[in-house]
Amino acid sequence: MPEETSAGQNKSEGLQQKVDMLNRLVEISLVMNSTFQLDPLLEYLMFQATEITNSESASILLLDDKTGDLRFAAALGDVAEELIGMIVPRKGSIAGSIIDQEQAMIIDDVDKDPRHFDDIDQKLDYDTRSILGVPMAIRDKLVGVLEVLNRREGRYDEDDIRYITLLASQAAVAIDNVQMVESLEHAYDDLEKVNKLKTDFIAIASHELRTPLGVILGYATVLQEDAQGESGEHIEAVLSSALQMRSLIEGMTNLRYVSLDESELNFEKVWLNDVLQEAINDVQSMVEAKGQIFELEEPPEAVMIEIDRAKFVLALTNVLNNAIKFTPPGGVILLSAVRRNKEVWVRVRDNGIGIPADELEQIFEQFYQVEDPMTRKHGGLGLGLTIARTVLDRHKGRIWAESPGPNEGSCFTLVLPLPPGMIFNEMEVPKNHKKKAKEST
Ligand code: ADP
Repeated sequence: MPEETSAGQNKSEGLQQKVDMLNRLVEISLVMNSTFQLDPLLEYLMFQATEITNSESASILLLDDKTGDLRFAAALGDVAEELIGMIVPRKGSIAGSIIDQEQAMIIDDVDKDPRHFDDIDQKLDYDTRSILGVPMAIRDKLVGVLEVLNRREGRYDEDDIRYITLLASQAAVAIDNVQMVESLEHAYDDLEKVNKLKTDFIAIASHELRTPLGVILGYATVLQEDAQGESGEHIEAVLSSALQMRSLIEGMTNLRYVSLDESELNFEKVWLNDVLQEAINDVQSMVEAKGQIFELEEPPEAVMIEIDRAKFVLALTNVLNNAIKFTPPGGVILLSAVRRNKEVWVRVRDNGIGIPADELEQIFEQFYQVEDPMTRKHGGLGLGLTIARTVLDRHKGRIWAESPGPNEGSCFTLVLPLPPGMIFNEMEVPKNHKKKAKEST
């Protein structure tokens, strides 16, 4: 082969090698940026570093912010496991010099370099012969050193420096990303814990408040029976405030349902009419106290549903309580239910103060109330609808609000999916379930 041709061939082979290496580095960078776990990421990085430079082992030393020393954070090779956590002093060591001089370094004969910290070699019975190390920086801040050790053949060269430098900068970005995700996860976990503490505290406190309140309500009711004139009015005021307090405490107790999990639901098959009736019983005294008219429109056919009865009743009573609360005395509350294909639609309609169009969704958010907290006339914690939505979500149903506008009344629709085969015709309904809900009140 003529000399010129062979030189040209060598050149193009060298070029091809570089293109291959660049492609490989791009691939490595893609892999590193797609993982959000630190340990596998570092292991992958070490492996690629040794492969690219034909080295026996690799390691990452990170600067300890407090002591200023360097600590092995990751390693690959025969003594990797023992190495992790070991400390190399910054002053007078090779890794320390790489950091201090902020530049890559090749040490071909480690034994002859007085900076080599051979404590570790002795402890681990390891023979470090050659080192290539590059500084690692995250957003201009030096964080550590990436080292490859003991080239299997030949010496480390400028190409090795270039590849390892590139790898180190890619790794720094990926490590930074992972650390940010990790610290976010920790912050989120801490928040969850604090949130749980708060919820537990409210649940316990509200539970403890119930007992003394029960005593107040009990004695006030007894006293009311005998009281006359002015003292009768006073007792009535005590009773009405105690009742108001009970509804607030119930709201607090229900706070835990805001983060209700589907696994906490106990599903059972029940007649829809029975469920409607149970909710009506819960709110009847309030309707009477406000002198409102309550109407019930039952479905034309008896329908069986599969629900967590207590939780669905809680959702429905929350909506009914609102209808009563936000409707003036003498107003009308209408509860209706119909089957629509494979769903049941339960509706609570009132002719009360209504809801502005732009707040129809926000009212389902935790603690959201349309009224200004400083001037509001109606009590409540702003949790009833949040809980109702959570309960419906867990039943794979839905709930929404409609209102023509202020003072035009509101309508809340609760939709439940029907389990297959759970629809009964009038003829098939057991006799005692045919009676109208109104009659059984
Ligand atoms: P609370 O009733 O304790 O304030 P909710 O979550 O049950 O909390 O309701 C949130 C808000 O939605 C209420 O404060 C009220 O502003 C509005 N709202 C709910 N139901 C009605 C209704 N039927 N009529 C008018 N406004 C309503």
